[in-house]
Amino acid sequence: MRKPLVAGNWKMNGSRDANRELLSALQSELDGLAGVELAVCPPAVYLPEVVEALADSPIEVGGQDCSDQASGAYTGEVAAAMLKDVGCRYVIVGHSERRDRQAEDSAWVAAKYQAALAAGVTPILCVGEQKEEREAGRTEAVVGEQLDAVLDAAGVESLDRAVIAYEPVWAIGTGLTATPEQAAEVHAFIRNRVAGRDPRVAADLRILYGGSMKADNAAGLLAHDDIDGGLVGGASLDAANFAGIARAA
Ligand code: 13P
Repeated sequence: MRKPLVAGNWKMNGSRDANRELLSALQSELDGLAGVELAVCPPAVYLPEVVEALADSPIEVGGQDCSDQASGAYTGEVAAAMLKDVGCRYVIVGHSERRDRQAEDSAWVAAKYQAALAAGVTPILCVGEQKEEREAGRTEAVVGEQLDAVLDAAGVESLDRAVIAYEPVWAIGTGLTATPEQAAEVHAFIRNRVAGRDPRVAADLRILYGGSMKADNAAGLLAHDDIDGGLVGGASLDAANFAGIARAA
């Protein structure tokens, strides 16, 4: 039985004051909610403060990215061991905004994924196709390549200590959500692809959906067996909206 996970990716949003307010509103909204795991992923500079603010809460904390290197002369980068050191349980790797803007390719993402595992931090591996790729009928080819790069590098059993997020790039921040059927189709594709290597790992794997998920469309998406939670961007900055998604999970 897979326990759903709803994680908020705050992206480059927040301030010390805004974070305090959001976390306190979230804690009251989510008080007593059982059966779903929750996490927030704030910008790196706020991680220690957020971990501290959530010390008495079941809400976990994650980073939004990590280096593929363990330590050394990598200006501006944050090592997975540092995320672990300040209390992070998760780290997002391979988000499409980084694949795009920082030109992270699948091999680099696989190295980050392995660095996270080596540090004892659970990677949330993002995969997803661009609009043009979907229109060209290449969704499975693109998602398959992103997935295989990681499985070839780290082995299928590594997914026992990881989470996958399917985020169609055309649905991120656009208000255009994938229909539950579109999402479920790709989730099933991902699970089958993993099952091709190890059916037991595939059965236990949590696959989250991300892309304009909100309280009012979450239930339809989460009703599908293969959709095990959400990686939520914009709506995670609003306590009531995020809590609505968590309740639907
Ligand atoms: P939105 O929920 O804002 O579309 O962002 C999704 C996302 O990219 C989560 O990582």
